[in-house]
Amino acid sequence: MTPEFVRIASVIEPSESQRALASDLARLCDGRASAGSQDRIAYARDLWPKATYWAGLGKVPRPPDAICWPRDEKQLANVVAFARARKIPLIPFGAGSGVCGGAIALTGGITVDLKRMDRLRSVDHASRLFTAQGGIIGENLERELAAHGLSLGHFPSSIYCSTLGGWLAARSAGQLSTKYGKIEDMCQSLTAVLGTGELVKVRARPSNGPDFTQLLIGSEGTLGFITEATMFAVPQPATRAYRAVRFRTLEAGAEAIRRILRDGLRPAVVRLYDPFDTVIAGKGKTKFAATDEHHRDGIQVIQERAPLAAKLAVRAALGKPAALNRLADLLRECLLILVFEGDADLCSAEDEQALILCRELGGVDLGAAPARHWMEQRYAVSYKQSKMFAAGAFADTMEVCATWDKVLPVYRAVRQAVSPLGFIMAHLSHAYVEGCSLYFTFSATAPSPEEVVERYDAVWREALGAAMAAGATVSHHHGVGFSKAGRLHEELGSPGVNLLRALKRTCDPDGILNPGKLGLGGEA
Ligand SMILES: Cc1cc2nc3c(=O)[nH]c(=O)nc-3n(C[C@H](O)[C@H](O)[C@H](O)COP(=O)(O)OP(=O)(O)OC[C@H]3O[C@@H](n4cnc5c(N)ncnc54)[C@H](O)[C@@H]3O)c2cc1C
Repeated sequence: MTPEFVRIASVIEPSESQRALASDLARLCDGRASAGSQDRIAYARDLWPKATYWAGLGKVPRPPDAICWPRDEKQLANVVAFARARKIPLIPFGAGSGVCGGAIALTGGITVDLKRMDRLRSVDHASRLFTAQGGIIGENLERELAAHGLSLGHFPSSIYCSTLGGWLAARSAGQLSTKYGKIEDMCQSLTAVLGTGELVKVRARPSNGPDFTQLLIGSEGTLGFITEATMFAVPQPATRAYRAVRFRTLEAGAEAIRRILRDGLRPAVVRLYDPFDTVIAGKGKTKFAATDEHHRDGIQVIQERAPLAAKLAVRAALGKPAALNRLADLLRECLLILVFEGDADLCSAEDEQALILCRELGGVDLGAAPARHWMEQRYAVSYKQSKMFAAGAFADTMEVCATWDKVLPVYRAVRQAVSPLGFIMAHLSHAYVEGCSLYFTFSATAPSPEEVVERYDAVWREALGAAMAAGATVSHHHGVGFSKAGRLHEELGSPGVNLLRALKRTCDPDGILNPGKLGLGGEA
């Protein structure tokens, strides 16, 4: 599916049919619907960097014809029935923080924003479970849980601007996932309104039969709306232990993580920065600042943190990425951040044991300060990517996952593939006994806006192609959305795609839910 584009300046007054649509939806959602031009422009994109770049050029994929904000499942089911009868596309919308174009309308339709369904409904202390509505923003959820002495243990960098339903829909991972798991590991049951309009409640880990929660988790709005979920809670941590270790090579640091996990230690945070990322981070001294998910705007943050690296990166962005990447190959220090949390005795025992393992591999203890600083800065997320785009460059991130035998081959393959095209660096995080996630950041530029878009596409094509050829998954936690839809089909293969399509036909027989996403109803 190819998006239709409109000039932002041309989205002025709603048409008659858009006005009529909004007034029908307003009747279904106690007045909360709009076809206003500002709303349609605002909901025309999510935080997919390419869409931000398009916006800078004055265009957006065709905006939704109307937006509505149902209050509850009954209103939502009525909206679905209304759209089904008229074959109008419905686009589920959490907070629009997705970075793969998953919440973009592409060809118009109705964007259904679930943020009015934002309540923490109940807390079951005995079972340590809570039930919350899908539209609740992460930060609000954590604040409410903290009042009960609990936490979900899920802290994505986007916690201020993403929802529980969006996390479940896109298989999100938080910064503490090595201890608490990804969002799909935290769900006990969920409620959804399917594309048929039916309300279903499905339970994880049933005593028998398939686990239907796992069919809906990761479905990115193509099968149904996740309206409510019962989640496993964890206690607020009693204490934390912080540790930073320097390694001579990425190989040694990766091996340390593998052994830490294999030996049963469970740090909440594990982050190993490659040599260039470590330089930008300030060599692990206390001035180290998080170069976390989107914590940087590529060159902009480089400029703030490391003047020399900044000059080099700017030069790279101006067209000499291969030289900078070759220089990075000469660097020889990798920073590992570990944070343990929970019971004080356990934390200090785990910290001590992890340090022993790191030292066996040549790791040098840098103390607690760099890790503590990372923790303090972990939400210092900057959303100023558009400034970089306005300057004629782009930055984006790619997160994939691989088993330990393939982690370093994937790292090398992606660096090699991207090096001629853009500046690239990476860190390893979200560790498991069997492998970990690799998080790449790249930036580049080209002489004209059209060539920037071409370069952006080329970097992604080369990076994801190399990663998958070396054995990585299509994504680890950002989801697939529109931008990686075709690649998902490569990963699933024909039988997997057939199953996915069969599921789609059952849950959404009219194909109205989020067309074009996950490669259902069109491919990127
Ligand atoms: C600065 C920044 C930092 C980020 N950091 C992280 C991170 O640390 N970890 C991480 O995992 N991700 C991260 N992301 C990506 C993003 O926050 C996640 O993908 C998140 O899960 C999206 O949630 P959302 O509520 O904003 O969903 P949206 O962006 O609104 O939607 C995402 C997809 O899910 C669908 N959807 C949304 N809500 C529902 C629902 N209730 N039912 C069914 N389908 C639905 C949409 O149609 C769309 O396909 C980051 C993004 C940014 C911009």
